[in-house]
Amino acid sequence: MQAQPHLLAKELRQDTKVSSCSYWRDPKWHLDVQKVGFRDGAGTLNWEIDMGDGSTLLDAPWVELLEACRVLVYSLVHDPLMMGAHQPFTVANRFNTQLRKLLRWMAEFGYDNFSQLDSEASWEFYEHVLNGHRKAKAEVTPQSLQNDLQVLATIHRHSLALHDAGVRVMPEAPYDGEAPGKVADKAATAANGWIPPLPDEVALKILSACFRWIGQPMDDVLALIALQRSVVPSSRSGATGRPMETALASFVFSILPGETEPWHASLNASSDYAFAMASRELRTLVLHAGAACSALVQGTTGMRISELAALRGGTDAETGLPRCVRIRPSKTGLNELFMVQSQVTKIHDGTLMEWVIGMRPAGSAYIPPAVRAIQRLDALFSPWRDATTAPQLILNPGGKSALTSATGIGPTLYQISKNMKSFVATYCGLETLPDFLKTPTGSLDLRGYKTGEGFRSHQWRKTYALYVLRTDSRMLPAISQHFKHMAMAMTEQGYIGNDPELLDSIDSVRRQRTVAFLLQQASGTTVIAGGMADLVREHRQRLRDVVGDAEGADAYLRMEEWVVQGDVRIWFAEHGKCFMSLTPGSARCHSIAKTDPWLMRQPNYANRNASVCGGCKCFAVDGEHVEFWKERYQRNSAVLAAAGADRSAGYKVAQERVRQSESILRTLGEPVNEMEADE
Ligand code: SF4
Repeated sequence: MQAQPHLLAKELRQDTKVSSCSYWRDPKWHLDVQKVGFRDGAGTLNWEIDMGDGSTLLDAPWVELLEACRVLVYSLVHDPLMMGAHQPFTVANRFNTQLRKLLRWMAEFGYDNFSQLDSEASWEFYEHVLNGHRKAKAEVTPQSLQNDLQVLATIHRHSLALHDAGVRVMPEAPYDGEAPGKVADKAATAANGWIPPLPDEVALKILSACFRWIGQPMDDVLALIALQRSVVPSSRSGATGRPMETALASFVFSILPGETEPWHASLNASSDYAFAMASRELRTLVLHAGAACSALVQGTTGMRISELAALRGGTDAETGLPRCVRIRPSKTGLNELFMVQSQVTKIHDGTLMEWVIGMRPAGSAYIPPAVRAIQRLDALFSPWRDATTAPQLILNPGGKSALTSATGIGPTLYQISKNMKSFVATYCGLETLPDFLKTPTGSLDLRGYKTGEGFRSHQWRKTYALYVLRTDSRMLPAISQHFKHMAMAMTEQGYIGNDPELLDSIDSVRRQRTVAFLLQQASGTTVIAGGMADLVREHRQRLRDVVGDAEGADAYLRMEEWVVQGDVRIWFAEHGKCFMSLTPGSARCHSIAKTDPWLMRQPNYANRNASVCGGCKCFAVDGEHVEFWKERYQRNSAVLAAAGADRSAGYKVAQERVRQSESILRTLGEPVNEMEADE
């Protein structure tokens, strides 16, 4: 019996027939379809697929992918071992459409073969598809979503045939093993229709733990690596023998400021040297240290995991910064922007993407957390980096269980994500969270997060957008400062790098927060202050009418529809909420600057501050901002107390701030008299 063409050696396939009139090598395949009722060309599959970058699938960079697609299509139609063989007409039409979308996405995000499409990548594809549907129409139907998501499941299901034909296959099932239909159902009916941000309680704990890790714990890990590399193994014991174990086990971990015990127990508690426990534990520590830095970069910049994985390592001798980081002056020259460059598409030689990952006042020595984390990653993996074979910033160190000096390899997205999950489960204290949290849209189930399993790295993008919109007073001051800088970079400087999709994420999160706030107001249980408070209170009945008798996700959907239709937008800041989309003519920041609110359709950021907003009719404050106003009250009360007989301009400013803070706090029911002034 003659072998099926896709099972022949690659060179031999080219001259074999795939249908009555097409050869494997042809740029178009005319599959044999029953023509009755179909137009001519109904079975035609054109391999000259536009990859979105000026190339087509027939061009040189895509040789491997083209061959994989041909094997896939052939086996879909012909392979008798494959369950549910497809009709040629279906393959040439519906499947072809799905495949084209996937291929263009792969090209855009730097994937050039199926083996790179792990579960993490599939969730990126999911977000990309959802994004497209949301942009195209307000309503996302499960069926239309499933059609697009299905392609990855089909490729995975055909792994056996692909493998037999020498194609590199997907390493695992897409969407964490969930069927595309279920994934689509959930997405289409989910209240927010998107991948949600991490809940505050989860994100704040993780970011705090990451920030702690890039300090002294990372110094300890680097010292351990140096120690490990300084020990000369005995000739018979290899890299993980007794001298090494003894040296590593004797390392004493640091005691962090404010704590009484070392942050980590000594390595190799077991005395059984045969298993090289200390070396294994060190490897885990290295991976956890890398995960802490990776999560910090993603959480404070909104970078995708694929973009993070594509960063290159090495230090620029001139700037002392990682080679992938550049500093540029902002438009006004008052600030300096930290830009990170990543070669997202491996095939687009020289094409770099840029993101803003931090900002500082010009001339200051401040290093943003994301840049610090990249510096740490650079140092952490430098022993395993090789400019030619392993140039990546993040690496899988040489050696399988214990560390060796062999060159590392770039990890898959799945490995980076797995390490993050393990770090989250081990160090972030999520197990202390309650099982459920009450939210304006119902109850939030935190049980999945408590084990680290519910955490997904692609949620960082939305989480980042959330914190750029509003800084949370529960954040560590250093992280809070960073988000304030990032908000300025994106709003006042108008700079987001060349990643406009990030703006979509920010808009999406803004809409989610707007809806959540209005739902709270509809329930009438929250107290608000500020110029807009009366209007919001007056319109509570209107908000209740919008929701009607709906509850939970249904109530959310109704309110979301109302918000989208009416283009109701709220701008969130640490000091309060701006409703200028409702009454642009009252925008005080614009009247001061003599700019046109109708044209700009957003606050005039250069003039937006607590004093200006406090006197604006578009402004409202609720319980979310109490900490800001308390702190402002205390700080300025301290200025008044220290002024003595001095009644200069500074005194009057502080006096006005105290008056304004006191008024807002009293309206919100906060006991002002019991507050101490800051020393
Ligand atoms: S002054 Fe503040 S509240 Fe008023 S429109 Fe400007 S940003 Fe919004």
